[in-house]
Amino acid sequence: MNQPKDSILQTSRRNLKQAAERLNLDEAMHERISRPHERIEINTAPVLPDGEMVNVSIFVVRHSDELGPAKGGIRMTADVTLDDIAGLATEMTWKTALIGVPFGGGKSGIRLNPAPLSPEAKEVVIRAFTRAVRRHIGPEIYIPAPDMGTNESDMAHIRDCISYSEGISITKGCFVTGKPVILGGIVGRREATGKGVIYTILAMCEQLGLDVSKLRIVMQGFGNVGSVAAADIARYGASVIAVSDSKGGVINNDGLDIDGLLQHANKTGSVRGFEHATQVDPAKIFEIDCDILIPAAAASQITVQNAGNIRAGIIAEAANAPTTPRGDEILKERNIHVIPDILCNAGGVFVSYLEYTQETQHEQMTITEVEQRLADRMKERFIEVYESSKEKGLTMREAAMDIAVSKVVEAVTVRGLLP
Ligand code: NAD
Repeated sequence: MNQPKDSILQTSRRNLKQAAERLNLDEAMHERISRPHERIEINTAPVLPDGEMVNVSIFVVRHSDELGPAKGGIRMTADVTLDDIAGLATEMTWKTALIGVPFGGGKSGIRLNPAPLSPEAKEVVIRAFTRAVRRHIGPEIYIPAPDMGTNESDMAHIRDCISYSEGISITKGCFVTGKPVILGGIVGRREATGKGVIYTILAMCEQLGLDVSKLRIVMQGFGNVGSVAAADIARYGASVIAVSDSKGGVINNDGLDIDGLLQHANKTGSVRGFEHATQVDPAKIFEIDCDILIPAAAASQITVQNAGNIRAGIIAEAANAPTTPRGDEILKERNIHVIPDILCNAGGVFVSYLEYTQETQHEQMTITEVEQRLADRMKERFIEVYESSKEKGLTMREAAMDIAVSKVVEAVTVRGLLP
């Protein structure tokens, strides 16, 4: 019988509880850094351009601002819940601490499937979201960015909505990252998460003495993060042999033509039906024999049910919380190397931080500067986590959590007593 999957919030609570035990945190401190500062639901019902009224639930969670304003993307899916957003906001707290940017953790959600919406209808929903959460957004409060279901034009509408309704141009301070470059966005932000994933894989290969050009990669998810990561690792000579998305999957043991696959997916909305490959059941994607598996889609995908069937030696968690705690225990028993999400996909928030600083200073970084800083930071933090895991006999997830949680506890402690 199928057991229910652990939720993102359960996964995040379990990871923190284990870190708290390893770090000997007292119960009050554990609870303080576990509970979100703010957790809200707003219900609204915008009228779309065709006259239809849609009921939309909006969620915002600011988990922590110990290290700076809350930072985290906007997830727009049909089934996102306030608990999911709370779990993802918590993960952002550890991610920003680990990658070393002066932000706390936040996340927001729009419970509506964006796929059938016209660009005009989506803009109406994004503007309704912005008006609803305006009091909770700002350079010193919470700075959103794209996540599943949202993109840079949505960030442009958020910026415009605040600017328009307040009669200001918002050139001082950064209200949202992942914007188009013309509106103060940074070059390379869209690619940053996917490229950051590949920098951690290159660093892992260096440690294990693996030849990247001989690697066979399997990827779940071919959206913003997955498609960039696939194209990038292919440039290093690795073969991406299988890719799945929510509608289907494709495999070619000689390596997929990633540029061709991207064109097909852009045209049809899915990798399904790509003609230079064999179709594969997306539910079986994790069972394909490969060197590196990259989950780059939804949460809670690697579970107690399928972790035993994974045939990769390395898992690079491009998605947020793709592995449930019970799935993770099996990966640990099987000695599969896992590059944990809070490290692996932190390139996006790191380049968001560069966007935040360039906007505050009215500067524009070049793509060479952005890519160099991203490469250096990902490698540096990978080595910190990898060496700590070896020294302490921990998995990379455990080592990463211990480093991140210790930083947040230190910030709480040195800030002193409330109020
Ligand atoms: P996206 O919406 O652009 O793409 C998501 C992809 O996953 C699509 O190909 C979709 O079809 C596929 N998918 C969704 N559910 C699936 C399922 N059950 N099985 C197989 N495929 C499925 O989203 P994205 O921005 O690429 O984000 C992907 C993951 O990376 C998410 O977990 C997100 O939280 C995480 N992430 C994104 C960023 C970023 O900068 N966009 C940063 C950090 C982490």
